[in-house]
Amino acid sequence: MECDVAVLGGGPAGYTAAIRAAQLGGNVVCIEKEPELGGTCLRVGCIPTKAWVQTAHALHAAREIDPKLGVVAEEPRLDLAKANEWKAAVVKQMTSGVASLFKANGVTWTQGAGRFEDANSIAVEGSESVQFKSAIVATGSFPIRPPIPGLDSPRCIDSTGLLAQTEVPRRLVILGGGIIGCEFASIFERFGSEVTIVEMLETLIPQEDVEATTELRKVFTKRGITLHLGKQCTQVDDTGSGLVVHFGEGETVECDLMLVSVGRAPLVEGIGLEAAGVSFDKRAGIGTDGQRRTSVPHIYAAGDVAGYWQLAHTGFREGEVAAENALGHEAQIGDPAVPRPIYTDPEIAGVGLTEAEAKERHGEENVAVGKFPWVANARAVMTGEATGWVKSIHEKTYGELLGIVIVGPHATDLIEAGVVALDAEATVETVADGMAAHPTLSEAIKEAGLVALGRPIHIALRRRS
Ligand SMILES: Cc1cc2nc3c(=O)[nH]c(=O)nc-3n(C[C@H](O)[C@H](O)[C@H](O)COP(=O)(O)OP(=O)(O)OC[C@H]3O[C@@H](n4cnc5c(N)ncnc54)[C@H](O)[C@@H]3O)c2cc1C
Repeated sequence: MECDVAVLGGGPAGYTAAIRAAQLGGNVVCIEKEPELGGTCLRVGCIPTKAWVQTAHALHAAREIDPKLGVVAEEPRLDLAKANEWKAAVVKQMTSGVASLFKANGVTWTQGAGRFEDANSIAVEGSESVQFKSAIVATGSFPIRPPIPGLDSPRCIDSTGLLAQTEVPRRLVILGGGIIGCEFASIFERFGSEVTIVEMLETLIPQEDVEATTELRKVFTKRGITLHLGKQCTQVDDTGSGLVVHFGEGETVECDLMLVSVGRAPLVEGIGLEAAGVSFDKRAGIGTDGQRRTSVPHIYAAGDVAGYWQLAHTGFREGEVAAENALGHEAQIGDPAVPRPIYTDPEIAGVGLTEAEAKERHGEENVAVGKFPWVANARAVMTGEATGWVKSIHEKTYGELLGIVIVGPHATDLIEAGVVALDAEATVETVADGMAAHPTLSEAIKEAGLVALGRPIHIALRRRS
């Protein structure tokens, strides 16, 4: 089969690249080994986890419903079988949506594992090979399994294994307090598991704003999630009916199931990159330039395999850029504002620099920070979700906004205002002096800007000494 552009992998980066290349008039073939399109994100990542997040949220809301609001509910309980049906239905709708988009855009989907034979052809298992003028590699990533004795027990599972559970484990240990680990901790505590996180570093989600993750740590502890931070897991014993997890200096915890979520590595092996002449690194992935061009000029790479970020939305954008360049257009990835959504309860979302990064880059004295708490926002108070705050970070010379960090209700949706502001190189005044509809949660972003400027309206200024 001959085509202009062959896309290897049908996840967020690959399917976006395929659709964009077809929109630009290319004859496009997308090779995906799984029976559904959508990749990790739609099948076993973002989408099914967030369907469970929704179940966990509904369960909590039903339990916490306040008779003050005039609603009296019977004792709610989890029906995991129903929740799983719901999760599967959401996944099905999303993955078949991608298949429909392929049809509508005239993208050919070939199912089977692909492997480069040389720099112009890909062999496809169980199907005819694909000859291409340009190719986009978008094979994604896979979960890392650290070399800890005993981790080969079937009770030690990755995120895909946890999403396939039909029963809630009574005791769940999570190895790794990163984003995926924390999201599952939040879900399973709501589902009724006793959750323990063992994390080698001193903090949860180390790449995020320290105050935000400190807030999460406090809430997790209050919710009864046990945290062992700064402790390395050394061994796991399978007792036949459960696990004994060894960590730190001779400490142990027993559990029924263990989620291993210590990070993901780019999927670069077994896909014939050597035959195509594409340079790669097992840890960093396929090296690309700002156009997402690899060491072979007509072969591009996008998404997790290209090793920049490990997010679906960065994969979407990289896929578009790669496709446009593959079709002879000039597109650059540039330096876009990348939102960092975390679907714990409370949610966290950041964009731009964290407070520590801003101070390091611009000097502490040149950075102003304002924090507006949700308890001072009417909409948050009405909904009973007033934990957390919005933080606005700007540099003082020009007032340029450097970052927004949100902890609390709908943080992952609200952060888009910060993304647009940062991409527009907005000043803090643009945000703080603009209008936000009242009463809404978005008012807190404007108010955080006002706090940073030292003229808040809806919280009292601290008296100057
Ligand atoms: C539990 C979990 C939750 C997540 N939640 C979020 C979230 O909320 N927000 C977010 O932005 N990101 C989230 N992510 C990350 C997100 O899923 C990934 O960043 C995203 O899927 C990467 O897209 P991709 O296209 O690069 O790779 P993938 O989605 O992994 O797609 C790669 C595709 O290539 C296929 N493939 C691989 N090798 C071959 C081959 N040889 N031949 C044919 N096909 C092949 C694979 O089957 C797969 O379908 C989450 C990840 C996990 C694991």
